Amino acid sequence: MHTDLEISKKAPLLPIAEIGKKLNINAEDLIPYGKTKAKIPLTYIDKEKYSKNNLILVSAISPTPAGEGKTTMSIGLTEALNKIGKKTTVVLREPSLGPVFGIKGGATGGGYSQVLPMEDINLHFTGDFSAIEKSNNLLAALIDNNVQNKNNSLGIDPRTVTWKRVMDMNDRSLRNMIVGLGGTTSGVPRETGFDITAASEIMAILCLAENFSDLKKRLGNIFIGFTYNKEPIYARDLKAHGAMAALLKDAIMPNLVQTMEGNPAIIHGGPFANIAQGTNSIIATKTGLSLSDYVVTEAGFGFDLGAEKFFDIKCVSGRLSPKAVVLVATVRALKYHGGIAVADLQIENLEALEKGLANLEKHIENIGLFNILPVVAINKFTSDTDGEIDLIRKRCEKLGVTVEVADVWAHGGEGAIALAKDVVATVEANHVKFTPMYDWSLPVEEKIDIIAKKIYGAKAIDYTSKARANLRKIERLGLSGLPVCIAKTQKSLSDNPALLGRPKDFVVTVREIEIAAGAGFLVPITGDIMRMPGLPEHPASEKIDITDDGTIEGLF
Ligand code: ADP
Ligand code: MG
Repeated sequence: MHTDLEISKKAPLLPIAEIGKKLNINAEDLIPYGKTKAKIPLTYIDKEKYSKNNLILVSAISPTPAGEGKTTMSIGLTEALNKIGKKTTVVLREPSLGPVFGIKGGATGGGYSQVLPMEDINLHFTGDFSAIEKSNNLLAALIDNNVQNKNNSLGIDPRTVTWKRVMDMNDRSLRNMIVGLGGTTSGVPRETGFDITAASEIMAILCLAENFSDLKKRLGNIFIGFTYNKEPIYARDLKAHGAMAALLKDAIMPNLVQTMEGNPAIIHGGPFANIAQGTNSIIATKTGLSLSDYVVTEAGFGFDLGAEKFFDIKCVSGRLSPKAVVLVATVRALKYHGGIAVADLQIENLEALEKGLANLEKHIENIGLFNILPVVAINKFTSDTDGEIDLIRKRCEKLGVTVEVADVWAHGGEGAIALAKDVVATVEANHVKFTPMYDWSLPVEEKIDIIAKKIYGAKAIDYTSKARANLRKIERLGLSGLPVCIAKTQKSLSDNPALLGRPKDFVVTVREIEIAAGAGFLVPITGDIMRMPGLPEHPASEKIDITDDGTIEGLF
């Protein structure tokens, strides 16, 4: 068996101008980063075209340690759509270095469905994350500088400052710290910490911005904290937004690379799917849709988290109207939802699978709530038996849902021809129209209520006294009209990670509600949310190396 990196190295890499040509981008317009990566200027976004072309979202059932394969499926489906004559671009998120060096698992697909050059995409890529980090940290420096300087003081109460510094690394020892030690010339001591770059509000902002003026407006709207007089302070009060946007001059442009079969891939932005919207930039999606008939894109975690935010935040914000959802499920993950331990997932177990299908069924229902047609894709693993696949197929048929086995990991685009045809048929039937779950103008509690009850299946919602105080603060700041980006565990449809399958009669507890006024959403928090992960005992970095001729080894 070859590793993903070994397989990727065997694939021929076309010069990036040739990939650009497939999208009718003039070679002189592309901004090359080496031979096989380039940035696409924002001038290629064309409203008439992106409104007309077809957006396909790849989502999945509730994720399990068994892995579902959304990215792999998105890439394989893109290859297949191109094979059947539909000009298609896959539009994905950029990987974070945290998981690359932490627990093995890249974000560039797997097997024979990968985007290239995978080493570069996984390691620094075109430097977007670094630019986001600098923009974020400039604001942090400006805040502490304002607290330090009496003459230029806004009167910021440092105890109310919520803005943290960020770095793209799993480093738990930076989570909590005191800065400003060392006497009067070294700042005012205050408690703060670091988040990982993917959790930065700047990342969420970059991915929702439409252009530079929208970017600056959002950056200026970042809520920082209060003055001693309890007046809110925003980044614009520090005159921070212009310089912060200047640092994002190149990062705002989407990155063009290629799939293993030489089709275009646009990879841009990488916000978390719990505390942020979990999907690539609106600019990247619109660029892809302006340049090809079909765009296949992915939203993080399961449908309840990533896809709900994709629809209610990204699509509403960017006025995008997706045409179909491909819901990825695996036999292994469904058995896990049926109560089987990870070690026993290879063994055929129809009873557990049957039980686990309740999870798939709920996600299928949820897709219908957005008035979109689902296509279920069974991501084939070598351990799957015919009996197990048949059981999923029969259940989907009973529900009236199109289902297809896809083996893109082993066969690339060839493994998803039937799936691609189903997707095209679904899109061309065109008898549904995407509708969001809620109107942004509804009261905050009502928005949370709709998502928790309808999507998660909760019986009731409980608010802590802190969350109630947050609601009053949001009202006072005039931010109640923002959409909600609920932070919840991805492991369960409920807010309790231990509840697998399709939990019922549970109460969702909202512990607090954070304000991401720049990104333009509120973040109701329903569990322990990790913003700066740690490394495992044996990090993946132990195996990563570079040879004398500059070849990367041991990366997945
Ligand atoms: P997601 O996007 O849902 O997080 P990925 O597509 O990144 O999932 O896949 C997670 C991991 O599982 C990757 O290492 C990938 O190579 C592997 N994988 C995906 N599909 C298969 C498959 N059918 N057989 C074996 N491994 C797979
Ligand atoms: Mg993925």
